[in-house]
Amino acid sequence: MTKSKQRTFHQSELLAWRTLIDHNITELPVDLFQILKNEAIPLHSFTTFKQASTKCRLYDKILSTDGFAVRSKGKFAIFLNPAVSSLQRQRFTIAHELGHILLGHLSNKTCTQDIIGEKEWQANVFASRLLAPNYILKKMEITNPKSIAEICDISLLAATQKTQQLYTEHLRNPKGLEHLLLDQFHDFIKTTKKNFL
Ligand SMILES: [Zn+2]
Repeated sequence: MTKSKQRTFHQSELLAWRTLIDHNITELPVDLFQILKNEAIPLHSFTTFKQASTKCRLYDKILSTDGFAVRSKGKFAIFLNPAVSSLQRQRFTIAHELGHILLGHLSNKTCTQDIIGEKEWQANVFASRLLAPNYILKKMEITNPKSIAEICDISLLAATQKTQQLYTEHLRNPKGLEHLLLDQFHDFIKTTKKNFL
């Protein structure tokens, strides 16, 4: 990973942690609806979206993806594809679209294909770190993909990828945000460790 990619990666992870802290999320699975409610971001179905009648800025192409985010008159909304039946996939999509919104991707600037690719990657890092915060999982010392999938309510595939990340990542000494995150999840880490080990 290049230095600049590393920096963007870290920024997306920090924003995911900051989101958990600011919305007072104290346990997994992360309550995405609480975050959306606090951020005043409504969640709709694809079928209710009428692009022609709305002058808005979009992120992620309509109907080609699991969901997309919209900005209209300074307000945001997320639209989900009802054809996606897996709840875990829906959760990832919501977190991914929330990432686009919070990372400021719905600005007026036009993007080149390269930048779009980079933003997709950032939104994925955000979603993965929001739904399954590596730092908390490391602290819980849970490395089994099945348990991770159950604890975080993510797909088994995502949990398996997470296990690989956890294996290669070292647990850093806690600094500012990590301290806050650990404080907030303290009770949850304790009880979950007891139940899953
Ligand atoms: Zn996207």
